[in-house]
Amino acid sequence: MTAEAPLPPGGTIGILGGGQLGRMLAMAAARLGLTCHIYSDVPDVPAFEGALHHTVAAYDDEAALLEFAKAVDVVTVEFENVPAEALATTARASAVFPPVRAVEVSQDRLIEKEFMKSHGIAVAPFACVDTERDLEAAVETIGTPSLLKTRRLGYDGKGQVKIATRADMETARAALAGVPSLLEAFIAFEAEVSVIAVRGRSGAVSFYDPSRNRHENQILAESRVPSGLPADIEDAARDIAARIVDDFDYVGVLCVEMFYCGADAERPLMVNEIAPRVHNSGHWTIDACIVSQFENHVRAIAGWPLGTTARHSDAVMTNLIGADVQDWPVLAGRDGVAVHLYGKREARPGRKMGHVTRLF
Ligand code: AMP
Repeated sequence: MTAEAPLPPGGTIGILGGGQLGRMLAMAAARLGLTCHIYSDVPDVPAFEGALHHTVAAYDDEAALLEFAKAVDVVTVEFENVPAEALATTARASAVFPPVRAVEVSQDRLIEKEFMKSHGIAVAPFACVDTERDLEAAVETIGTPSLLKTRRLGYDGKGQVKIATRADMETARAALAGVPSLLEAFIAFEAEVSVIAVRGRSGAVSFYDPSRNRHENQILAESRVPSGLPADIEDAARDIAARIVDDFDYVGVLCVEMFYCGADAERPLMVNEIAPRVHNSGHWTIDACIVSQFENHVRAIAGWPLGTTARHSDAVMTNLIGADVQDWPVLAGRDGVAVHLYGKREARPGRKMGHVTRLF
């Protein structure tokens, strides 16, 4: 695909990762007449059902990655822990969006936080922790309550230990076990909010309305729009997202998750993390917008004009986690509710099995 010409219908999008985000991307691509090719390191994943072509191979299988990249017109990712090297390998044979650098930054919480700081964007106070001595020193400076997080491969609260008081130090030391980590102040936020931004190949940027998110056990439980936050805070949230996508010369959808600490706080918004991909807190856009985050990601990476991000309804998206999915017959019978199931066979606790969006 050249930098200028948009990918016409009939073209193929390669997606690294086979989860529900890949599945919903493939469904959105199909609506535009584009085909998807999913690359996953495990067989039988949710995205395979929505896409014509699949590759099952390891993320360090260079030959398989190159063959995949040659078979598609553009490569993207559906989870940020795809090894950045895998993405770089595919870039030798195909156009790749988002930029590898955005994926690299988001994969390491320390680099991510330093990136924010260097752009004047507030984050929770943090300190790098590699050893038990670092941990002692970090607890001295950051204080308690705080959270010990692994630098890499953490999501949905995985790889996190709360240090409520010094009595938790033993657990924290055991959890650390030599894994590069950081200690982060626990923020008594008023609300969690996220902004989904989309940036096209021309550099045009659009935003979906910020959503207010509620987590349970560190897993997203619910996202609602409108967020109910003051308009100037929503503007500030969009401005933060704009600065991030512009710096990366980003193409595609990127989500910025933030803590709202109250209008009177010294720094009302703090960035928790970024996701260089479509995001769970944007699932409401499928039903409440003409063009969803999934379609806009596809449009952006395919070089199409971005679609409208306007919202035609208020919405609440609720995740179906683990056994929640068993309520599907009841949910399917409710007025004004869109049911989305991901086709996962086993409803393990904590596993995202589907979601429902209620429109108002
Ligand atoms: P994360 O894995 O960083 O996305 O964190 C998952 C969830 O844990 C967040 O959405 C918050 O609800 C909570 N959390 C993470 N970091 C902090 C923090 N520094 N202070 C308070 N809550 C946090």
